[in-house]
Amino acid sequence: MFLDDKCFAGGGRGGPSCQACKRPILPSERQTRVEFQNDPDGSKGLTGDYHLACGRRFESLAHVINMKPWSGS
Ligand SMILES: [Zn+2]
Repeated sequence: MFLDDKCFAGGGRGGPSCQACKRPILPSERQTRVEFQNDPDGSKGLTGDYHLACGRRFESLAHVINMKPWSGS
């Protein structure tokens, strides 16, 4: 059905999408959640779910960002 096409276009229905490669994370794939303190609600497209492989560099990036003095106090 053409009407349903847009439901699949984003690939995000029914499951999380990887914030790095924008592909859906399949149940069979390992995933990790990375949270950035400068993007608590994910509106910048940083905080969210990643494939385990895709998320590695973001995890280290988040680690750096979350420690930065500008993020608080
Ligand atoms: Zn990915």
